Amino acid sequence: MSTVTVNCPYCQESMTVNQGDDYAPQFHACRKCGRKFIVERGANRVKVMKEKEAPCMSNPDCREIETSATCEE
Ligand SMILES: [Zn+2]
Repeated sequence: MSTVTVNCPYCQESMTVNQGDDYAPQFHACRKCGRKFIVERGANRVKVMKEKEAPCMSNPDCREIETSATCEE
């Protein structure tokens, strides 16, 4: 695990979150407004997305669904 500092996409609160060492996107909840957002580490910078704005490949929930669907084929 490593930590990254991000700004909440809803209220701009700055906070430090734990992020895995791989590049998998993760959900985090804002400590101030409590809303869920997604943090995804890229090669050069950290992306922060609102839950509803994230593309499927950056949404942990969506990725899980896609992975299980692929297994059945
Ligand atoms: Zn917030």
